[in-house]
Amino acid sequence: FLTLGIETSCDETSAAVVLNGRDVLSNIIFSQVDIHKKFGGVVPEVASRKHVEIISAVVDEALNSAGVKIDDIDLVAATYGPGLVGALLVGLSYAKGLAFSTKKPFIGVNHIEGHICANYIEHKQLTPPFLCLVVSGGHTHLVHVKDYDEYDILGKTRDDAAGEAFDKVARALDLGYPGGPLIDKISKLGDENAIDFPKAYLEEYSFDFSFSGLKSAVLNYLNKMKMQGIQVKKEDVAASFQRAVVEVLADKTIWAAKKLKIKNVALAGGVAANSRLRKELERLCEKYGFNFYYPSNILCTDNAAMIASSGYFAYKKGRKSNLSLNAYPNLKIGERL
Ligand code: ATP
Ligand code: MG
Ligand code: FE
Repeated sequence: FLTLGIETSCDETSAAVVLNGRDVLSNIIFSQVDIHKKFGGVVPEVASRKHVEIISAVVDEALNSAGVKIDDIDLVAATYGPGLVGALLVGLSYAKGLAFSTKKPFIGVNHIEGHICANYIEHKQLTPPFLCLVVSGGHTHLVHVKDYDEYDILGKTRDDAAGEAFDKVARALDLGYPGGPLIDKISKLGDENAIDFPKAYLEEYSFDFSFSGLKSAVLNYLNKMKMQGIQVKKEDVAASFQRAVVEVLADKTIWAAKKLKIKNVALAGGVAANSRLRKELERLCEKYGFNFYYPSNILCTDNAAMIASSGYFAYKKGRKSNLSLNAYPNLKIGERL
């Protein structure tokens, strides 16, 4: 069973062909990061226009490099939210047009559920139920994956997403864009105990997160040092910030796993590529006897293979979408529109 996945929710134009929801035959990713770099962030209008320009070529390349023709495809899956509405519409409309003209079934996929499903591709033996910490550029969620198409949100960020905090702190440190990978990299050269930044655990045993206080604390620290004419060591600031983020994320994930009495813990989203976060969860999962899973880096950040996987498993559970399906910029995990 072959699924063609299409993803254009933000600044990656991607198409993939996936066999039985788990085996990637192709996963073409065109990242617009170099285009948006000079603006220091994604410019929605620019992203939509670039998607329009290349979507057709990216889909053709996905089919070609998988060695299949459009007639061989059994299901067309595309992201319909959350994301930038203009960007979402490009991939969604293209997918619907393709499904209509070739008379294939079509399914709309939630981008964040897609991030979670990247784990099915990486770990062929992983099946629900499991607990998933989703940490991406725009979202931070603790999710109980009850079944292939059933998600329960245990907690989420009340302000900034984890990735957003990484990107903003990186900008304050003049590291460049996107900042997450750069903070990860220079932190390896710093002392993570150099500065004691605040960690927000919120109410006792709350599964919600908050990163805006930490972000402000880093910015205040940098301002204070600047006014006093003290040269900061960027590596120490980055490492100390990263430690504060990672410890809260990992601690809460472990609390949730214990509470649910669940065996399997997974990580998903762009920040799942963070080496310190992986290490901390690996350590704690081993200590408390949980199995720990995370996708390889290329499957952590935006890609269409994860969308194809999510679409496949939802379709096998009996779900499909109408060709009148619209894009929903604020689509929630588990929401069915
Ligand atoms: P969303 O999925 O919430 O809609 P998005 O698609 O823009 O947002 P992703 O592609 O999932 O986000 O992830 C991008 C984010 O991941 C960026 O914030 C980036 O800085 C962060 N990121 C990538 N690699 C790392 C890393 N090694 N350490 C920390 N953060 C990272
Ligand atoms: Mg991106
Ligand atoms: Fe994403």
